[in-house]
Amino acid sequence: MAKFEILPGLTFVDRSGWGAKSTFPRMGHRVPRSKRTHVIIHHTVVSDANDTSPILWETLPEVYRNMRRLQTIRPDLGNDVPYSFLVYLMAKKNAMVICEGRGEDRSGAHTKGHNTAGIGIALAGNFHEDDVPGIEVAKRMYLLSGFLGWLRYAPSHPDYGTFSAMKNLGSMRPVDREVYVHQDFKATACPGKRALPHLSQLAFVHPNAF
Ligand SMILES: [Zn+2]
Repeated sequence: MAKFEILPGLTFVDRSGWGAKSTFPRMGHRVPRSKRTHVIIHHTVVSDANDTSPILWETLPEVYRNMRRLQTIRPDLGNDVPYSFLVYLMAKKNAMVICEGRGEDRSGAHTKGHNTAGIGIALAGNFHEDDVPGIEVAKRMYLLSGFLGWLRYAPSHPDYGTFSAMKNLGSMRPVDREVYVHQDFKATACPGKRALPHLSQLAFVHPNAF
């Protein structure tokens, strides 16, 4: 079980850490890290409905419950989290929790035609609602840049394992951003009009640069 900080405020939790139900094993096929060329941002549309801040998550148990729910939310795509990773904006300390979905080494089921070369990262919540507080999204984006940099340059940790870097990640990108969004490839509202303006600030920043 791995749960560790990549940066202050940026916590990574692997599948055993969030308690993935073993009845629903990880799907997809194995993909070499060198084949990963781009990132595609999504939102899950599944909000935290327990309180008045549906895109902010209060506790880790709440995050872990949501991850287990995502294992079976799209049976048409198979019973596993369809994304490579999930991003939870935490209410406290402007923090962020990244949960492992399919992870670094398996194909996803998030973006038609881009599930092998693409890493699909989903923001947990519905970012298309008018009342999403943009400031809460904006002030945590640097942590997601740290995660992108970790993936590309240094995706290892003593509690997780030693892995090779995803050195080609980000080599394929749109002209005006370092990452794609779902609607670059499909007519969809994903990743939501209240997330979109903030995604242009994302970059692949080495965690040591913070
Ligand atoms: Zn999407």
